Amino acid sequence: MRTYYFRLHIVLLALILGGFLRLEAQENTRDRGGFGVADTFENPPRLVVGIVVDQMRYDYLTRFWDHYGKKGFKRLIGEGFLGKNHHFGYAPTSTGPGHASVYTGTTPSGHGIIGNNWYDKYTDSGVYCVGDTSKTSIGTTTNAGQFSPHRLMTTTITDQLRLHYQMRSRVISVAIKDRGAVLPGGHTANAAYWFEGGASGGWISSSHYMDVLPAWVQEFNASNPAERYKQVWKLSHKPESYVESGPDNVPYEGVFTGEAAPVFPHDLPALWAANGGYDILKATPFGNSLTLDFALEALEKEGLGADEITDFLAISFSSTDYVGHRYGVNSKEIQDTYIRLDEELERLLKELDKSVGEGAYTVFLTADHGVSPVPAYLADAGIPAGYLYKNKIRERLGEFMSFTYGTTDLLKGFSNNQLFLDHDLMRNLELDPEDVRTQFAEELLKYDGVYKVYTSGQMRSGSFTEGIEAILQNGYNQKRSGDVILVPPPAHIDYSKTGTTHGSPYIYDTHVPLIFYGKGVVPGSTVRKTYIRDIAPTLAVMLGIAFPNGSTGAAIPEVLE
Ligand code: ZN
Ligand code: ZN
Ligand code: ZN
Repeated sequence: MRTYYFRLHIVLLALILGGFLRLEAQENTRDRGGFGVADTFENPPRLVVGIVVDQMRYDYLTRFWDHYGKKGFKRLIGEGFLGKNHHFGYAPTSTGPGHASVYTGTTPSGHGIIGNNWYDKYTDSGVYCVGDTSKTSIGTTTNAGQFSPHRLMTTTITDQLRLHYQMRSRVISVAIKDRGAVLPGGHTANAAYWFEGGASGGWISSSHYMDVLPAWVQEFNASNPAERYKQVWKLSHKPESYVESGPDNVPYEGVFTGEAAPVFPHDLPALWAANGGYDILKATPFGNSLTLDFALEALEKEGLGADEITDFLAISFSSTDYVGHRYGVNSKEIQDTYIRLDEELERLLKELDKSVGEGAYTVFLTADHGVSPVPAYLADAGIPAGYLYKNKIRERLGEFMSFTYGTTDLLKGFSNNQLFLDHDLMRNLELDPEDVRTQFAEELLKYDGVYKVYTSGQMRSGSFTEGIEAILQNGYNQKRSGDVILVPPPAHIDYSKTGTTHGSPYIYDTHVPLIFYGKGVVPGSTVRKTYIRDIAPTLAVMLGIAFPNGSTGAAIPEVLE
């Protein structure tokens, strides 16, 4: 009997103890796996500033490092997080797809922005990624404001922020280029503004956002804010210190109209009239300065970051792209443009410290694509490089079509290195579309300047996991992309012999910086491969808001607390 009671006590004691232990364990799990006391979403940044530097290669950080001050790139990287192996993971690598991918967390296969311009098979015409003739210009009588995000098929991180806070979060997007402002703002931005240029040095918008420019924008424009940049562009550091770039006067660089050689100083007032008035500023570092002037005015006048509800300021620095196209990767002009951009980043951070408060905001910085070195320069250095002659390709394809099919009408469009075939005609001629695509592919492979060719059939069957094939597939949109996709050899571009361009699936077009800085960011770096589509999911987790609705990227765990 006594033994029985003793055993019962032991059992009861064990049950009670076991219960306590289980509770303890649950408590621990909750601590480790749930929201920690310092989780950013409970106390989010007052402002997120998204910076896209148009055409910024990763090595512009490292190559010009010694010229940067302590409070621009070096502050962002020294106190923030640097992704050293950050890539686009899709092609075409151009401005429209780039901005769309940063902000939607997916690639053209998902968000539908398959190029800056593309042949639209439904209307049999060329379309511009943000062109929208159903909208009217706001702030100008020209058509320079007829833009909207209507071709963007998914939401952006900025849309999700607006939705999360019942539209109380404020989103303002600013860039010299309309597409650099429209796409980051998503569908629901309070406003997107871009620079008009030509006879006007002011900032304009579209009826997609507003009926009339806010008073502060009208006042800012009336103050003629771009006028002070009508000045001579000189090197900002000692000329002999620019040892990280090549000689100034080389045949690989373009010139402003009326300029004899591509050399400093560039006399903008003298070149003004022949180069489209205010348009000339776009292709100088001053375009970035006037973008920041306007962005800082928006910060103040819109009260961004003034309360607990997270706001978003999207800034795209477009001038780096114009300068890069004209002068190339190795020019003194591009080096000086980045030295000056670094100074503008310092100015931005100082303003944010003052108006939002140090530690109360979060910044990310990336690019919309990289760029190829000038092929003519590479070729002179003994590296395989060259040019793609699209007219030649069209001409030879014409001969091929009339010989093989008895008609030259099969090819309807040729954009972003994609051929669009006439599907009605193929049906009438009782041709199997995939057979025709394969025949085109075999033909194209014989041509100089064509290195790899894929058909839409290949893009739609199965899923590539690596290489050029996977990159093209991420850029291939079933509704919008073409029938045959061609890829030139590395370092071959469809461009003039001076200057350079981007758009390819190659590493020089896909490798760009990734910087996170400020509230909610764990300082550090990674050499692990990350992708442009990971930025928006990382922000979504940090802010505790829903992912953009087409997201295919993954939050970057190294960045998050
Ligand atoms: Zn761009
Ligand atoms: Zn030069
Ligand atoms: Zn460009």
